[in-house]
Amino acid sequence: LSDSRMEENNVKELNQLSISYNRMLERLSDAFEVQRQFTANAAHELRTPLTLMQVQLDLYNSSGHPGNDEDTLQTIKMVTEQSDRLNKMVKTLLDMSELQTVGRDDKIMIAAVVEEVLVDLEPLAQEKNIRLIGKCGDITMMGSDILIYRLVYNLVENAIKYNHLGGQVTVTVCRKEKQVSLSVEDTGSGIPEELKERVFEPFFRVDKSRSRELGGVGLGLALVREIVRVHDGRIAIKSKPAGGTIFEVIL
Ligand code: ADP
Repeated sequence: LSDSRMEENNVKELNQLSISYNRMLERLSDAFEVQRQFTANAAHELRTPLTLMQVQLDLYNSSGHPGNDEDTLQTIKMVTEQSDRLNKMVKTLLDMSELQTVGRDDKIMIAAVVEEVLVDLEPLAQEKNIRLIGKCGDITMMGSDILIYRLVYNLVENAIKYNHLGGQVTVTVCRKEKQVSLSVEDTGSGIPEELKERVFEPFFRVDKSRSRELGGVGLGLALVREIVRVHDGRIAIKSKPAGGTIFEVIL
């Protein structure tokens, strides 16, 4: 074949490849959309009976439950706890399905977001006598302020929940060239090396019963990973030799 024929063939092949690649992408994005819609619909449907159940339970619990024996009270307490857990799960699933549609053009002052999270989580930290420290430069970035609040909140909440009594949580925000680095460091139990990727999977927990005791439903880090993804960032977990974990987010 002459050089020009070969070139023509190459161009044709490349065009073919690019058409099938685009078709594949379209199909993938349709599949994601169907899945997203399914999660959103399922979460909406689950919310209605759950809210009704919770209203009844709240009414009952505020009535002082006259004339009931210890066993019944225990049962009601358990049902209330489980319906709270379900509620948390349904809310997080809804949040996850709505991520794509949230605007991401807020000008965010990260130090203010971190400060807000630390104030909101101070009561939880006090229960375990944990010190919360924020070290934030004067940095702004574009994104969704609601989602970035949620990201920092989930990481700091975990850093408190899985920490030891009297421990410490440090949130550091600094600029790394054109990017923003946000790290949340704790003095807790740490995460085993081989599970570092898995903790971001929905419903995965290193210790299921401990997480349940602490009110966890296993969706916090899955949501964090999605928030990082929609902001074109990345997240990594580092262990500290002396014990404890560092979550580093680059945005
Ligand atoms: P949960 O609701 O169980 O806290 P997450 O998705 O937030 O769910 O976290 C998943 C699991 O990762 C937790 O159950 C816990 O085992 C582990 N984990 C998360 N953050 C930390 C941390 N800072 N230190 C130790 N383990 C952690």
